[in-house]
Amino acid sequence: MKLTDNADLRPYNSFGVAARAACLAEIEHGEELEPATALAEERGLPVLLLGGGTNVLFAGDFPGLVLLMRNRGVEIDRESGVVKAAAGENWHELVRTCLEVGLYGLENLALIPGSAGAAPVQNIGAYGVELESFFVGLELFDCADSSLREMSREDCKFSYRDSVLKQSQVQSRLQPLSPPQPQLRVVCSLTLQLPREPAPNLSYPALAEELEHVAKPTPQDVFEAVCRIRRRKLPDPAEIGNAGSFFKNPIISQDEFEQLSSRYHSPPSFPAKEGVKVPAGWLLDQCGFKGYEKGAAGVYERHALILVNRGGTTGRELHQLAMEMRDSVRSEFGITLEPEVRIIGTH
Ligand SMILES: Cc1cc2nc3c(=O)[nH]c(=O)nc-3n(C[C@H](O)[C@H](O)[C@H](O)COP(=O)(O)OP(=O)(O)OC[C@H]3O[C@@H](n4cnc5c(N)ncnc54)[C@H](O)[C@@H]3O)c2cc1C
Repeated sequence: MKLTDNADLRPYNSFGVAARAACLAEIEHGEELEPATALAEERGLPVLLLGGGTNVLFAGDFPGLVLLMRNRGVEIDRESGVVKAAAGENWHELVRTCLEVGLYGLENLALIPGSAGAAPVQNIGAYGVELESFFVGLELFDCADSSLREMSREDCKFSYRDSVLKQSQVQSRLQPLSPPQPQLRVVCSLTLQLPREPAPNLSYPALAEELEHVAKPTPQDVFEAVCRIRRRKLPDPAEIGNAGSFFKNPIISQDEFEQLSSRYHSPPSFPAKEGVKVPAGWLLDQCGFKGYEKGAAGVYERHALILVNRGGTTGRELHQLAMEMRDSVRSEFGITLEPEVRIIGTH
């Protein structure tokens, strides 16, 4: 286990903002988790898990121990379609590998940045597919009693960008998370079950449109189409610091949606289990946030849901901008946006 005191977190968050941790431990093997958490306890430090750091905002420093999950390994049984991946594997590379060996279904989730271990935390989803459709279970290290456990799909209680793992870690409001955390659970590996028969999912309109000239799209066609759309639509964190969609799409009641429709002509919407889902990007666009700039903190010019670091902004400034956006949507529409990104740090 590699340990660094007073660690610089800029290389470990896709916003690329400056922040420091009291200590950082790179975990390359699951067995290192026990001594790492024992060290945190000994020093009285709270613990934060990080994979690729593509879904976090450091609004300030983290006065604790960051565990950087870097354990590797993928086991594939093509006959049964069972795939087991260590938490530190890169998600997009895993999608590509499964496609190469002829196991399908993950192609709609191509190019989502970050680690395999974080994928179940918010039940990653894109282009009409969510992780939970292929999820079997995960291996977990519970820091409370240093035990290793398994969790099934039912145990994870997946829903839209959510799971029990996220609920135990994340605030639902825009307040930065302050230590200590009650229940820290580390995903060590996850197991998926993938079909061997291709069954491309083109339920997402933009994806169907992208492939309308292809007579019988294969999973490889879907993979490439998803990568093309994402490269067109989303900023690459290697060039412009960002964490993808900053807020979740709110789900409102049918009555609220009718009120919205009486004020705006045909607001976009999607059916959801609990009501009607309205794109947060559309709400923010109506409030004039697309391309908005506030110093070096800003909003991507092609997507009002993506906060960006145009170079040299701080996590605190991005956090303030996020609060301004939330307040603006609340006063215009009476809808409170919830962050999808995890906000960390005290200031
Ligand atoms: C350009 C861009 C596009 C994106 N598009 C999408 C998208 O289409 N769909 C989507 O769902 N997301 C999207 N995201 C968000 C992000 O990629 C996903 O949430 C991803 O799963 C985060 O992985 P990570 O390893 O970077 O997690 P991190 O940012 O490191 O961590 C995220 C959360 O998971 C926890 N965590 C990390 N590793 C573990 C572990 N091993 N065990 C337990 N908890 C852990 C962290 O503590 C934190 O709470 C996008 C982000 C970017 C920058």
